[in-house]
Amino acid sequence: MTAAVAATPAPAPAHESLAELINPLMGTDSNYELSYGNVYPAVAVPWGMNFWSPVTGKMGDGWGYTYETHKINGIKQTHQPSPWMNDYAAFSLFAETGDVKIKQEDRASWFSHKAEESHPYSYKVYLADYDVTAEVAPTNRAAQFQFTFPKSDQSHIILDGYAGGSMVKIDAAHRRIIGYVRNNSGGVPANFHNYFVAEFDKPFTVGRTWGDKGDLTNDQSREGDHVGAVISFQTAAGEKVHVKIASSFISPEQAERNLDTEIGHDSFDQTEAKAKAEWEKELGRVRVTDPNLDNRRTFYSALYRMLQFPRMFFEIDAAGKVVHYSPYDGQVHDGYMYTDNGFWDTWRAVFPYFVMMYPEQDSQIMQGLVNTYKESGWLPEWASPGHRSVMIGSNSANIIADAYVNGVRGFDAETLYQAVVKNATTDKGRPTDKKGRTLSAVGREGVDYYNQLGYVPYDVGIHENAARTLEYATADFSISRFAKALGKTGDVAHYQEHAQNFRKLYDPQTGWMRGRNKDGSWETPFNPFKWGDAFTEGNAFQYSWAVMQDVQGLIDLMGGDKPFLNRLDSVFTTPPVFDNSYYGETIHEIREMQVVNMGQYAHGNQPIQHMIYLYDWAGQPWKAQYHVRDVMKRLYSATPDGYPGDEDNGQTSAWYVFSALGFYPVTPAVGQYAIGSPLFRNVQLTMPTGKLLTIEAVNNSANNVYIQSVTLNGKPYDKAWLAHATLEQGGTLLFVMGPTPNKAWASTKAAAPFSMSAPK
Ligand code: CA
Repeated sequence: MTAAVAATPAPAPAHESLAELINPLMGTDSNYELSYGNVYPAVAVPWGMNFWSPVTGKMGDGWGYTYETHKINGIKQTHQPSPWMNDYAAFSLFAETGDVKIKQEDRASWFSHKAEESHPYSYKVYLADYDVTAEVAPTNRAAQFQFTFPKSDQSHIILDGYAGGSMVKIDAAHRRIIGYVRNNSGGVPANFHNYFVAEFDKPFTVGRTWGDKGDLTNDQSREGDHVGAVISFQTAAGEKVHVKIASSFISPEQAERNLDTEIGHDSFDQTEAKAKAEWEKELGRVRVTDPNLDNRRTFYSALYRMLQFPRMFFEIDAAGKVVHYSPYDGQVHDGYMYTDNGFWDTWRAVFPYFVMMYPEQDSQIMQGLVNTYKESGWLPEWASPGHRSVMIGSNSANIIADAYVNGVRGFDAETLYQAVVKNATTDKGRPTDKKGRTLSAVGREGVDYYNQLGYVPYDVGIHENAARTLEYATADFSISRFAKALGKTGDVAHYQEHAQNFRKLYDPQTGWMRGRNKDGSWETPFNPFKWGDAFTEGNAFQYSWAVMQDVQGLIDLMGGDKPFLNRLDSVFTTPPVFDNSYYGETIHEIREMQVVNMGQYAHGNQPIQHMIYLYDWAGQPWKAQYHVRDVMKRLYSATPDGYPGDEDNGQTSAWYVFSALGFYPVTPAVGQYAIGSPLFRNVQLTMPTGKLLTIEAVNNSANNVYIQSVTLNGKPYDKAWLAHATLEQGGTLLFVMGPTPNKAWASTKAAAPFSMSAPK
């Protein structure tokens, strides 16, 4: 085969609905011990302020919806980014017939996945115990419910404000319930409220409220820790009752405005159609043509997860201005705000995807980061909705630098530079939580050691010290690129030098990254299978590759290509033994590595997700091609157990989406993607420039995973990477695939992607 072979047109419907391919239940078969995604079926528009989700669990339990459960007790407004962070500002609606049942466990109805329809733009379920069908369709800050009742003298809709502070008030004359909820899991100012308004299209026969003890009375308003409302009426067989509902973090008046502007007089079907159209528009920037329906479903289900977080946390005021309630200072300010994101996860591939395909969205997110810095004095590393104290690193620097270096504009880059430098250089004076504990997730814990010694020591009481060092060094590289792009030439050398600090933790004796004591001696005893401790949710097998800024430098440390390649291979061939003593239990990330028969390759967590692509730096891109296809095939499917571990705000999905396109962003802020193996026969991307990029893969199949040759716009292409600046100009990238490796293609050092160190 040669590149001159004409592409075979692959069969796929010309006007296939992409939103209909999505299965929001992908990843919902999860629990505390083992995660196949740890997601819930989010009913929302892309990046919507509010998501809606069926509830099978108890409020306060992060696992709000799990596939294996049989009973449903509400459809809630949710803002949960992860079960590990839990929810905030949640409340739910539910329908019943017969005697009123209030508590979640009492009112829960049997349901079946066979009588459930889950889409991004709507959700429908049959509540078997009540013979009621419940449906919801979203807008950005509002939603419509449609309840189809049986003939009954006792039909009810129940609103649950959940524990943590709630208020309800029935306004029967206007067929409304208004109120607020204040539940949260931290990261909110003292005046935090989620104000809601719910408007019914049927008069109430009776409206009642209930309080903390579940006591139902005729009081028309109620305030307490956990209150709710019930409205009741007679229904005819098949009668549909509609509820239009909106909320605001700013005020009750703003909630009404959100209801008027986003729903107004729209019918349920119109709201659903508009939500679907929003998804089609965003998903349609990438059109896959391929006969494999399963792969198309997985691809768009993964893309759906990438277009949810960080959520819009801003609203539009009466004058049409963008305003936001600040989850940092509790005031209302002009401008954008986004939240619910763990940058430790998402800097790797979610944000690079935004840079490539949604720079206008990324610009708004950057403006939100400017506002976060102004309102809190810090950049977030894990925001939900305000600063939360989880995970490590200065990964906000990667996100910001990558955006700026690759041409995202429209934000105050000078302020963000100042913020990035403060985050990278400051340990003291970090904000505290309600209990007065320092939030270790912002700023840099151990920065004085890092600046003096070049690493955060193992023996000074700072946990996950080696992971911190490696991540700080990568962030310092990003800062050097940002400084260079902004013309701050005086700072470039300093941060470049710090970007080399990964060398301080490489132990030539064992060949691994290893914790290091203050006096220069090594962490002893050392067990490369030990999870946590010096590392974060990983061990030396997974974390030793965290040198995205200088893969060639790492190759040199390991003794050259051959030992480096042997070590990469060993990740897959070493049995999945582990030491869990740091945690005292087998955390789910460990179990997810153990069970998939891929050795020490722990794709269910983020630290190793770029590793396969490192073969591109060492002359064996064909091994990257083999492994990426193997992981796509074995670890992902559009089914409830379809992820290999926590999905994590789009990151584990972004690995699949990029990899299916045929490349992946390893190094931040250089505008390059390492090439893997494209999954589909044909993909058309409408780039933000308006130009069309076509990615063809001739002879592609489950067996033909190896690249034989590549042309870019008709010219032979033999590099193991693609430039962002090239792709955004559109054109045609043509891969010719085959069943055996072409070991010559892109295997020279000149073909390798970016490294700080020149090849030796
Ligand atoms: Ca994770």
